[in-house]
Amino acid sequence: IQVDRARPTLHAVPPIARIEPLTTARALRGPFDYLLGPGLEHVQVGTLLVVPFAGRDVLGVVVELAGETGVPPEKLAAPRSVVEPGVPAELVALARWITDEYCSTPARALGLVLPPGAGRATRPRVRTRRVLVAEATDAGRAALADGGQRLTPKQREVLETLAAAGPLPATQTGGDHGGLRRLADRGLLQLEQREQRRRPVHAAVGARNGAAPPRLTAEQIAALEPIVAALEAGDGALSPADRRFLLHGVTGSGKTEVYLQAAAAALRAGRNVIVLVPEIALAPQTVARFQARFGDTVAVLHSQLGQGERYDEWMRLRRGEARICVGPRSAVFAPLADVGLVIVDEEHEPAYKHEGDPRYDARRVAARRAHDAGAVLLSGSATPRPESVHALRRLRILRRVDGRPLPPVEILDMRDARHPLHPVTREALGDVRRAGRKAIVLVNRRGWSNFLSCRSCGRVWNCPECDVALVLHRSQRAVSCHHCGHSERVPRTCPDCGSVSLARHGAGTERIEQELIEAIGDPAFPVFRLDADTTATKGAIAKALGQFDAAPAGVLVGTQIVAKGHDFPDVTLGVVLDADQTLRFPDFRAEERTFSLVAQLAGRAGRGQHGDGRVLVQTLATDAPSIVAAARHDSDGFLAGELGRREILRYPPFASLIRVVCSAPDAADAHAAADAVARLVDAPGATVLGPAPLFRLRGKERSQLVIKATQRRAAVQSVAAAVDAVARTPVGRRVSLSADVDPQ
Ligand code: ADP
Ligand code: ZN
Ligand code: ZN
Repeated sequence: IQVDRARPTLHAVPPIARIEPLTTARALRGPFDYLLGPGLEHVQVGTLLVVPFAGRDVLGVVVELAGETGVPPEKLAAPRSVVEPGVPAELVALARWITDEYCSTPARALGLVLPPGAGRATRPRVRTRRVLVAEATDAGRAALADGGQRLTPKQREVLETLAAAGPLPATQTGGDHGGLRRLADRGLLQLEQREQRRRPVHAAVGARNGAAPPRLTAEQIAALEPIVAALEAGDGALSPADRRFLLHGVTGSGKTEVYLQAAAAALRAGRNVIVLVPEIALAPQTVARFQARFGDTVAVLHSQLGQGERYDEWMRLRRGEARICVGPRSAVFAPLADVGLVIVDEEHEPAYKHEGDPRYDARRVAARRAHDAGAVLLSGSATPRPESVHALRRLRILRRVDGRPLPPVEILDMRDARHPLHPVTREALGDVRRAGRKAIVLVNRRGWSNFLSCRSCGRVWNCPECDVALVLHRSQRAVSCHHCGHSERVPRTCPDCGSVSLARHGAGTERIEQELIEAIGDPAFPVFRLDADTTATKGAIAKALGQFDAAPAGVLVGTQIVAKGHDFPDVTLGVVLDADQTLRFPDFRAEERTFSLVAQLAGRAGRGQHGDGRVLVQTLATDAPSIVAAARHDSDGFLAGELGRREILRYPPFASLIRVVCSAPDAADAHAAADAVARLVDAPGATVLGPAPLFRLRGKERSQLVIKATQRRAAVQSVAAAVDAVARTPVGRRVSLSADVDPQ
């Protein structure tokens, strides 16, 4: 169907549905108008329809209803059918906002809010599961009571089972289908198809608390008060800015308890709750605590669920059977009506940014959703982002729940070190082993060594597709690329000079695991490793965390995963190796990342009854401000310094960043496209940095622009238009262009 925009005549042919087809063709600009004939009166914004489009049937979403159209009546097509269930109207609005905010397409953005399994197919792939349920009737009970004459022994058995157990799936009654039917025909039992929800089961790691809320500390009460007041304030009583909170509380200060009680307050006010966690695999404790407190009213949405389970959880939310949705960034699209509270736990985590199109930031989407719903936004972290400190009402919790101080942090200078573990670290690990306690060791890189070189000719093993060094993984006897996954066998000799003397530089988790086993090897003090190599399978992270939690003593060594949010009460030592590694990234967030990594790891130590926590930070940069501030637990000092630096350099929150990457087999094409975009971008208050070459990735040469903008909307629009225009030029067709708003 064609929309003839040249013709201004408006035809009054109600009712019209404006529909976005869920196709990937970027060139076609919707929405497109369709005529709603008889039988389609119930169509609303958010209804899914199969419509004829460009010669075939496609699934589309109604984004608007109208009484008139610019399309002449004879050209107006009608939808073919309705596909149930549809999407709540407010999520359609949110998707349209994302389209503009993150330089995406309506089809892609709407794809985020569809029911699980709906996709682009014109028929739903997932359906509600139904089961045949049998239930004894009064007549059936009476027949049993009067001695069960006229019942065969088998029939009596079935009825007795049902009388005792209540309604049961037919397959669990002990009777066969024909037998049950005959009893039903005699009115002794009732057979009925009922919907059965597939319910995901979650490992309950360390859900130590019962369902009963503890007595809050004075600081928790002080933090909760304004949140509850905002939840109870009527519409319009507060400005949106007064409903946005940042709970900045040290690790172990009981932030989750504040979330739980805020959620309870929202439910009491008759409103629903979304709880975002950075990664579901890393948040089993948070999920378990919400489930322990609120039971079946909690639904969990994430991609590791089977599609059937996800569909059923989605339907429970859609129908209001569940009123709290817990999940990773995509849970911000939970189909809950009347959301009153949106919680963003560990709001500093980069996982909130989605790395595919649309490249949305779930924290920003959460703020938008809360704004549109008149809901309270509650972000929380021990190491919040400067952006959040700047924009939200901050609530501080300065003390841990158990009243224990944060553990002392020592910085260990590694400039003269010969061994990846500093002598002080080895000694401290020995102490922990002798005391039968636990330690966590954080290593920033997985694998054995960071790179491999030839001692005689200096050859370095690089990825053939990317300009990065290959990392040695000894147990897999391979060197592999952490960007594209390229992998080759560990070389024995140098292919350039034939030397057998190859050097391994740096230490990853695999090597540190080995070092630890050698240094402190003891069957009563096991070493657990946690990184992307050991946790590739579903559920592996929760399992590994569970094993470490259950062990009486031991060391957990791993990548950043080990520093995230876990509450292990008997960890007395935390060690960060190579703390300055994150500082070496050419990124304005390098300082923030480093601070948060060290501070978060420090937060894992010294919880529970063994108050003698200790944290060691091994680094080459002993006086880097972010490391020194983290060692002093000086979050406020760090944030003040960081905000000052960003204001001078015009980084977020004082400007928005948009990154454009052009990639192509040919470097000149990539550069030319980036250059063309740079010349087209024109928005007030926007400065363009670049083009600058980036390292080659997956065989593609890349060139990048960074746009710093003070007027975000105008800049995003200008960049989107520039990218679109360049994509249509001859050079643009040889290049793939992507625009990333708020890049990580
Ligand atoms: P955070 O998220 O701030 O790091 P948690 O919410 O995990 O802290 O709380 C740390 C521990 O203290 C948890 O085991 C939690 O159940 C417990 N806790 C929280 N609040 C209280 C309280 N008011 N009284 C007793 N224990 C509490
Ligand atoms: Zn060589
Ligand atoms: Zn590679």
